[in-house]
Amino acid sequence: MIGVRTTAPDVAELTGGVAVLPIGAVEQHGAHLPIATDAILVDAFVANAVETVGAGRVWLLPTITYGKSTEHDGFVGTVSLSATTLSALIHDVAVSVAASGLRGLLLVTAHGGNPEVLGIASRDLRSELGLVVRTVHVPSLALDGLTPGPDDGWDVHGGHYETSVMLALHPELVRMNLAAADGERWADLVAADSTSIGSWFTRDVSATGIIGDPRHASAEWGKAAFAAQSAALAAILETLIGAVA
Ligand SMILES: [Zn+2]
Repeated sequence: MIGVRTTAPDVAELTGGVAVLPIGAVEQHGAHLPIATDAILVDAFVANAVETVGAGRVWLLPTITYGKSTEHDGFVGTVSLSATTLSALIHDVAVSVAASGLRGLLLVTAHGGNPEVLGIASRDLRSELGLVVRTVHVPSLALDGLTPGPDDGWDVHGGHYETSVMLALHPELVRMNLAAADGERWADLVAADSTSIGSWFTRDVSATGIIGDPRHASAEWGKAAFAAQSAALAAILETLIGAVA
């Protein structure tokens, strides 16, 4: 694995190649999941995808653990970056990646509050640096026909999806006895006014901080989801490696 525990000459061997930057979040995930859930998940998906394409073929950068989590304002345990700060962090990392001679950058997140920022950043980085940048929100990748959970259509935060994947990867961090369903009104809110989808707050629809139904989450479902989306992420990474070659 070419990361930060390897040497500069190892990175130099990747000249003209691709770097991967995972971006997490630190935010309340109800009473049953850890606040770093999105950072833990993105690290696991990215590690698996990098292993799949070949650990010596990309530069895996350290994760930006924090993300933009403004939608959880008012809930204890949330630490949010502004869009300006997150954009600036990504920008400065990308300038350094380009200065090290790499040509491609994959921005990966598992947090739904980040993709808007990453999308704007990726276009600006191409304009400024000539980098080929791709942005991936892992939970949006295809689930290969996996049957959705009981919260299909409102599995937004701490619901069936995240809880199942966490049960598959880190069961010791999940308190299933505290898993509760909440926030079903989220679907109505979004359906009623799709133009304001970017401005909802969790507290608009949920008292617990959960938007979803995690009560029937399972490690088996989570393993299948992890396998499908890790493979999809690896395919995107392989395509990016090919695009800059
Ligand atoms: Zn999450």
